Amino acid sequence: MTKLPILTASSTEEWINCALRAWLPSEASVAGPAAIVGTRFHKLVEGAIAAQQWVTLDPLDECFETPLRNTLEWMSRTVPQGTLLVEQAYELWPLGGYYTVPGQREPHWRDAMSCRRLDKVGHRDYPNVEGRIYGTADLVVVDGTMAHVIDWKTGKRSDAHTSQLKTLALMVAEAEGVGHVKASAVYVNLQSGKVTEQTIVLDQFDLHMHAGAIVSLSKRLLQKETPDPNPGKYCFFCPAVGCPEKLRTNR
Ligand code: SF4
Repeated sequence: MTKLPILTASSTEEWINCALRAWLPSEASVAGPAAIVGTRFHKLVEGAIAAQQWVTLDPLDECFETPLRNTLEWMSRTVPQGTLLVEQAYELWPLGGYYTVPGQREPHWRDAMSCRRLDKVGHRDYPNVEGRIYGTADLVVVDGTMAHVIDWKTGKRSDAHTSQLKTLALMVAEAEGVGHVKASAVYVNLQSGKVTEQTIVLDQFDLHMHAGAIVSLSKRLLQKETPDPNPGKYCFFCPAVGCPEKLRTNR
């Protein structure tokens, strides 16, 4: 039976390039030491933003003081005033096509999907309903018809982050009802404390283009029993179970 898989914003680059990656089950990942340290830093940033003031650090967290100060300083310099949503999770469901009244107007990207905020149920503890895409924005600032989405990163820069930002921007645009979204991946070096960023701005055309890629993927998945593999640079780290290309690259 044809079904749509459960996807996440953070793996957008992989499933947008390879429909089979979206289709196959994934092996469970185990958080390594770097991910555990990164999660702790995220919690400190989240706590400071929610409290809207400096937080007293435990002795074990004192190593984070400079990165944390620099991150909050970046935020006060860059982020506009507005409604703050910290660690906001979203659930987006693609409709598999554009649903408009024929002849009324050109299809809009909002006709192809729906998205809602999820109540906090724990860190990335999603309901995991088939056919949905889940994502958590570390920080969303809604300011009238604009929103700024921010994702703190403690690892290396990657092109894949741009795709993740686009999916988060689409989620925020639909769920918060805004027309323009600025999206930033903010890289925090936990050793030096240096903060750099990668920022994209998405207008209606950009949102339409990214929604189109998701519509196209959902149509392909609904029409075919099993999509063809599209091997590329992500195969080596691909968590999909049962792909013949994966077996080839691991040989
Ligand atoms: S190993 Fe490569 S071809 Fe196979 S599912 Fe993953 S990304 Fe696609």
